[in-house]
Amino acid sequence: DKNILESEIDVLIIGAGPSGLMAAYWMARCGVNARIVDKRGTKVFTGQADGLRCRTLEIFDSMGFQHRVLQEGHVAVEANFWVPDGRGNLTRQGPHCSRKVNESPFRNMLLNQGRIERFLLDSIREHSDLQVERGVIAEAFEYDSAKASDPDAHPIAVTLRTLSDEEANPSSLRAEGGPHKVASGVARGSLLQDDWEELLSKSRAKETRTEIVRCKYVIGCDGAHSWTRKQVNIPLEGSSTDHLWGVIDVVPITNFPDIRRLGTVTHPTGTILIIPRERNMVRLYVPVQAVEANVPGEGRHDRSKITLEMIKHRVQVILAPFTFDYKICDWWAAYQIGQRIAPTFSKDNRVFLAGDAVHTHSPKVGLGMNMSMQDGYNIGWKVALVAKGVAQSLILNTYDPERHRLAEMLLDFDRHWSGLFTESEDEEKAQSMIKVVEFFEDFADGRKSFYGPSPLVWKKHDDSGPTASASEGCNLIPGERLPPVKLRMQADGNVKWTTAILKSDGRFRVVALTGDLRASTQRSRVEALAKRLSSGRGSEKSLFDRYTSLTGIHDCALDVLAIHSGPWTEVEFFDFPDVFHPFDTVHGWNYDKIWCDDACPWDRDCDGTGYERWEVDRKRGAIAVIRPDQYVGWVGELEDVEEMIDYLDGILVTRPATA
Ligand code: FAD
Repeated sequence: DKNILESEIDVLIIGAGPSGLMAAYWMARCGVNARIVDKRGTKVFTGQADGLRCRTLEIFDSMGFQHRVLQEGHVAVEANFWVPDGRGNLTRQGPHCSRKVNESPFRNMLLNQGRIERFLLDSIREHSDLQVERGVIAEAFEYDSAKASDPDAHPIAVTLRTLSDEEANPSSLRAEGGPHKVASGVARGSLLQDDWEELLSKSRAKETRTEIVRCKYVIGCDGAHSWTRKQVNIPLEGSSTDHLWGVIDVVPITNFPDIRRLGTVTHPTGTILIIPRERNMVRLYVPVQAVEANVPGEGRHDRSKITLEMIKHRVQVILAPFTFDYKICDWWAAYQIGQRIAPTFSKDNRVFLAGDAVHTHSPKVGLGMNMSMQDGYNIGWKVALVAKGVAQSLILNTYDPERHRLAEMLLDFDRHWSGLFTESEDEEKAQSMIKVVEFFEDFADGRKSFYGPSPLVWKKHDDSGPTASASEGCNLIPGERLPPVKLRMQADGNVKWTTAILKSDGRFRVVALTGDLRASTQRSRVEALAKRLSSGRGSEKSLFDRYTSLTGIHDCALDVLAIHSGPWTEVEFFDFPDVFHPFDTVHGWNYDKIWCDDACPWDRDCDGTGYERWEVDRKRGAIAVIRPDQYVGWVGELEDVEEMIDYLDGILVTRPATA
């Protein structure tokens, strides 16, 4: 058919929800020949997910837009658990606050999914011309598995069709009347200006057309009913329960004193979860009594029978004797709990699945969006570096084991947590809730990731179990994120968290913890290290010339940092070997590679205890390689450069030897 266009591309992302946008960020950042399509005519504006865990904020910091969340979102650190007091009243148990709350620069926060998508879209635009093609559906798929092992092949053909305005914005999403077709219930007053402008520009009718796109890689981020997953015959395994839930985003009018605080209220017929949000809004997760939605004669519950009025009534019953009402409802939905997971997240390392496409669970754990974004973040840099010829394709093998294990933990957490919300008169409920939260918090907040040994995670001992301790005798553990620390820049004394220093720019980082340079023996060790880094292995001029780079973006696949432990006044910038302050005749010295773990008199977070937190000897130091996603890949002594090069050689593509 002459009307069907054909094209070729390296990476196609299907779905522009949180996981797809995260993967798209890497494509934009690394200059990959990529496209991202979504069948919806617009992004999400109201409702859906709203919880942000501190690890997600650390990632945003390295991407450069965490400040937008801090500005608009709502901090939720302490939780209160209200229970009946036996005399017809409710009483507060709490507040409960995580003991580890200060182990991240960030706190858990709450903000509407639509805003998170906005920040991701803006960040993508900042780095490239990549734009979400909206109102474009993926609807046919062909895969030639015989070509899977040829790195230059485009074994997947996806047919994309541009939808008509009617199809991309179904009537359930459109407002009645008005000059513009906008999502139901979305009023101008409830949108910020940047979202409102996009909504208007996206609602124009488009020409329909069909295109066959041949791709090297496809990342399916197309949600719980994933079309991509079905094309590669990967099932979702698990089950759903009979429990029906309502969720509402309202501006409440109530005399319940903790309505602006995170917490739960328990009642013999179920527990509600209260989530305070931006702009005076509060989200309530409400168990809707099964009987109210019973399908007559079938003994089953029908989600479509649940009404907003029914949910409001349930809140009034559970909150009594406090009153509850509202005038403004921004969004509401009814859902049924199901816990499902796909047995594998990839097909032949050519088609990858991320987010809700491979794991679904109840929204009450506040992790759906976080896990989905972290999946997209994990697969995104790997596919981007392989597509650009910077990393070897074997790193793609690590996506499934790294993320599948966490998805299983997520479902386990959900089973424990959601189980506590159903009908019961358990007086110990508040205590049980605290125990479940404490048991899962390292995982849920992202302080531990449990990534096992692989070419990307060099473990000297196989300690891949969830109880693994520091394998190399310090708290820089391969497979875990670098514990965040605030440091001072040697050259100008400014302070920054490592989460911001370790930018998500597609580079691996050689982080030399150079110890205390006031001792001459240590200075000699650091000079020997610098000499070794500057000589590489084989014929290249230095280690930094050994590997191919992201052409046009970075000169080198590796970045180097020095973090020393002496007082900044007693160690000078030029005491460091050249490799830590490269020079060019136009821009002068590069000042931002040398950092100091020294206390800052005007910033309490920068207390000079980084080495202690990393459990690294302040005098002798250590050296680590940090992956592009801030996870520790390899750790050793300053003299272990040969082993470090072995680690890097197992991941990166070396440049052809020059004669
Ligand atoms: P999604 O955000 O679902 O994005 C998938 C995208 O793929 C969609 O935009 C879709 O249009 C697109 N797509 C699908 N098929 C195709 C195709 N064939 N071609 C092109 N595009 C396609 N989480 C919570 O934590 N709390 C909540 O209260 C909550 N409520 C929710 C309510 C609703 C109605 C929904 C749908 C989700 C809710 N979630 C909630 C879940 C949360 O939104 C998800 O965990 C998160 O959005 C997952 O991100 P994702 O990118 O994996 O998938």
